[in-house]
Amino acid sequence: MTSQCDQTEILDATPAGISRAGTILRGGGLVAIPTETVYGLAGDARNPAAVSAIFAAKGRPAHNPLIVHVADLDMALALARPDTTARALAQHFWPGALTLVAPLRDGHGLAPAVTAGLNTVALRMPAHPAAQALLAAFGGPVAAPSANPSGQISPTTAAHVMAGLSGRIAAVLDGGACPVGVESTIIGTDDTDRTVVLRAGGISPEMMADVLGYMPVPAQVTSITAPGQLASHYAPRASVRLNARAPEGSEVWIGFGPDCAGADFTLSAKGDLAEAASQLFAILHKADATGRPIAVAPVPEHGLGLAINDRLRRAAAPREI
Ligand code: AMP
Ligand code: MG
Repeated sequence: MTSQCDQTEILDATPAGISRAGTILRGGGLVAIPTETVYGLAGDARNPAAVSAIFAAKGRPAHNPLIVHVADLDMALALARPDTTARALAQHFWPGALTLVAPLRDGHGLAPAVTAGLNTVALRMPAHPAAQALLAAFGGPVAAPSANPSGQISPTTAAHVMAGLSGRIAAVLDGGACPVGVESTIIGTDDTDRTVVLRAGGISPEMMADVLGYMPVPAQVTSITAPGQLASHYAPRASVRLNARAPEGSEVWIGFGPDCAGADFTLSAKGDLAEAASQLFAILHKADATGRPIAVAPVPEHGLGLAINDRLRRAAAPREI
């Protein structure tokens, strides 16, 4: 079934909907797609017009590179030359919430704007069945940043996508709520070729330690400046106060764990970090809709808590405009 809203088609994640999404991608159009992390705004990564339309629809600064989504490891290896460690991580965590930054391969064929002129590219094979079916049907690499206006709260439902981008994209493929709920972990290498975390995300350092033999640490940010690394990002309209053990004044209080009786919303009543990650953006959207200032209870700084706290700190950061 297909319905129309402000000229943005809403497609069900059925074979017919996925086939329609593939046709739109082949024609250079943009489709928001469900992934296990958040909804992505997909366009043909080899088509300069499609890539430029992604930046325009999001209002994303051109110097910020996009993640390229691939159907399998072979497609990734046609585009880039990940080192042995990155390959081992891909083999272990793909399909899944891990993005590798690796040197571009000659003849990669990607539109230059995808990598913002860098000689590296960020690659991920998503696990969501609808994303996988679309990548297989399309048969090529798809650039897909989060499907939201740049700097705002990320979308984890088709309704979130429509609230931000309706009328500015050809279609949204509705695959339900995203199960992981925070963006992928991005890894790269430092000057000594050690694996480092460029962005905390759905795969925790503890999980990667099983493969690496050590816990990868956050990269010292040097030349890379991109939306996911800007101080203010994932931002609601309202102000956000962190580590709040109780609400103050008119604040709407987002709780975590059993000590937050009376919270307006709860990331996870039992203190489960995976559940909290999957609820995070949906609750921020709802809290923001109240129009009141937002206060958030403390979330532990380990496992998926690293990604949750990263997003909360950026949501709370002073706005740069
Ligand atoms: P988003 O697509 O909105 O989840 O953000 C993509 C993120 O990928 C950006 O914030 C960058 O941090 C990162 N990224 C993409 N390409 C590269 C690259 N070549 N080198 C380093 N980081 C990258
Ligand atoms: Mg984003």
